[in-house]
Amino acid sequence: MIAKVLVELSNKNIDKTFDYIIPKDLEKDIKIGIRVKIPFGTMELEGFVLDISNSKETDLELKEIISIVDQDIILNKELLELGKYMHDNLLCTLISCYQAMLPKALKAKNGVNIGKKIDTYLKLSDLSFTKLNDKQAEVINFVKENGRVLKKEAITISASSVKTLIKNGILIEEKEEVYRLNHESGECQKHELTSCQQETVEKVMSSSDKSEVFLIHGVTGSGKTEIYMEIIENMLKQDKSSIMLVPEISLTEQIVSRFKKRFTSDIAILHSRLSDGEKYDEWRKIARGEVKIVIGARSAVFAPLKNIGVIIIDEEHTDSYKQDGANPKYHALDIAKWRSKYGNFPVVLGSATPTLESYARSEKKVYTLITLDKRVNGQTLPDTIIVDMNKEMKQKSGCFSKKLVESMEDAFSRDEQVILLLNRRGYSSFVTCKNCGFVSKCPNCDITLTYHKSSNTLRCHYCGYGTKLDTTCPNCGEEAISTLGLGTEKVEEELIKLFPDRKVIRMDYDTTSKKGSHEKIIKSFENHEYDILLGTQMIAKGLDFPNVTLVGVINADTSLNIPDFRSSEVTFDLLCQVAGRSGRGSKLGKVLIQTFNPEHYAIKYAKNHDYLGFYKQEMNIRRTLGYSPYYFLTSIKISSKDYDEARDVSNKIGNYLKKNLLSTVILGPSVAAVFKINNVYRFQIVLKYKKEDNLYKTLNDLIEHYKTNSKIKIDIDFNPIHI
Ligand code: ADP
Ligand code: ZN
Repeated sequence: MIAKVLVELSNKNIDKTFDYIIPKDLEKDIKIGIRVKIPFGTMELEGFVLDISNSKETDLELKEIISIVDQDIILNKELLELGKYMHDNLLCTLISCYQAMLPKALKAKNGVNIGKKIDTYLKLSDLSFTKLNDKQAEVINFVKENGRVLKKEAITISASSVKTLIKNGILIEEKEEVYRLNHESGECQKHELTSCQQETVEKVMSSSDKSEVFLIHGVTGSGKTEIYMEIIENMLKQDKSSIMLVPEISLTEQIVSRFKKRFTSDIAILHSRLSDGEKYDEWRKIARGEVKIVIGARSAVFAPLKNIGVIIIDEEHTDSYKQDGANPKYHALDIAKWRSKYGNFPVVLGSATPTLESYARSEKKVYTLITLDKRVNGQTLPDTIIVDMNKEMKQKSGCFSKKLVESMEDAFSRDEQVILLLNRRGYSSFVTCKNCGFVSKCPNCDITLTYHKSSNTLRCHYCGYGTKLDTTCPNCGEEAISTLGLGTEKVEEELIKLFPDRKVIRMDYDTTSKKGSHEKIIKSFENHEYDILLGTQMIAKGLDFPNVTLVGVINADTSLNIPDFRSSEVTFDLLCQVAGRSGRGSKLGKVLIQTFNPEHYAIKYAKNHDYLGFYKQEMNIRRTLGYSPYYFLTSIKISSKDYDEARDVSNKIGNYLKKNLLSTVILGPSVAAVFKINNVYRFQIVLKYKKEDNLYKTLNDLIEHYKTNSKIKIDIDFNPIHI
């Protein structure tokens, strides 16, 4: 028998299966989808068995499989097929697709060894015993009383006695696998659903054996999470399992405990703050069919559940659902849709601010739209006030406007809490006028120009337009153009000066890097140990603090100026999300937005919580400029340590694409947004097209052509989140 093995080595040149002989003694263990150890050249590598057959493809003499790595099937039939789909559609290596699906413990070991956690128990044997010393007798009594005890507990009486008793065969060791995470099951607390919620659940359930995508457009606090839980419970009644994706940063104890309180059965949880061992355990629980509910971040969409009833994607507009650093650059939504077709079940998307792409699909009836425009508690959405910082700047009030300070004092006087958002998106990659807030945009693309310090130029990384930096503002004439950015520390300092008696807690990348710190901050703010939560984007999502009645956005403009065609959408989403954190309890909420662009439509529509108004205006702009969802975009990154090589190859590729893609607009080559990382120079070409039949073949040929060139790296990103 021959096994076709895909080697775990991400190299375009060997991204195919190799034939190996299955030795007689392994024949019963080797199944499709398991991991094996194989000789490869002079190395010993691991790989996945993708097929088993009687015939070999080459005349070369084949080597034998050395051993199996684990007994269980790692890649089931569905995942094997899904990998091939990803490989064909994302033009990345097949092995990278399979690796993306698996926890680290199930990938080839790079010096790390993550195993199962084993507990050892002791019990009495049938052997009769005499002549025990006191300690030994104590150990024996302890075991007798309990029938079976944990070895580590017995050792606390006397390690040497335990050792001797085992050696003499009086005590027997029993090893048992345990899971590192143990979730306590709940007591099933649930709310009586409102009629809107009930209708939504029924609509989804009436399609429970169809591949259909639902988009729930519901304002913050409209009870979406309750709806998800009810759908999951209905699925459980049909003996079906569910996956719910939530954004990484909102996958906190708050949401998990809400689920634990609701469901009596066990839940698996997958997110990046778990240890590798914990992830491995959660994964095995799922693969063995011991849980029917999985909550997790992006990669949980690959959870090897059987008999799936629904995949829910909460806050579907979140950009972390797209993997954009490493390959494969997949979007969890595409994977969910593929699995829904494979298994015939619905996908449910939920958001207060759906992506333009999703909402446009619902208008075209590709998705089924469900709108929830009221909060469950009957509260109106918080009152939003826009503060024009151009006026404040003239009064030299620092980063806190008079209005914001007054509103904070107001809240404190009623013993209420305040959340402050420091918008750090796209931090300092652009320049702005300190006097009037002016930001330079590309005349061709309407994209904020990126500042390149080394050449002191402003560049468009869509089309390549460039201009020297001039410190005189073309808008107000002041010599006040500079790289401006507010640091968390600076804001904190000012806060302490303004409110010396109030306690501030910071939540940003620095203060949450340690395991558990995220939870701790949330808990202590919840317990009102602090008056002010100052944070970055992290605080905008999912958090539910009933005592927060004021949310202040210190600098709304930073995200407005990121050099990306989605900057208005990102800003609108962020402001709506963060506004949703205010007034979630019984008290009325208020939001204050500080901005240099009080007239900007993204800010105005966010003030009125007017998603549809924003959607219509933004769609018009996208149509005029030819961006998504009217056009598909694909970005090609060309990088090399050798600047000349990178530039020359980029030009060559640009010409090649122009010749072959006749229905496509080709932008660039231009320098990438981040031009140089670790001494690697990066260029970029952006493709815009409505329909391009030649696309996959042309790009595939391109990859084939350069795959043996070790100096050049080519990276393709379909529907990129950031260009
Ligand atoms: P969303 O996910 O849309 O922001 P949630 O599901 O978190 O909304 O609901 C907002 C708040 O309202 C939560 O505190 C939740 O417990 C409560 N809630 C939701 N549905 C109901 C209901 N039917 N009856 C009472 N309270 C509800
Ligand atoms: Zn441009």
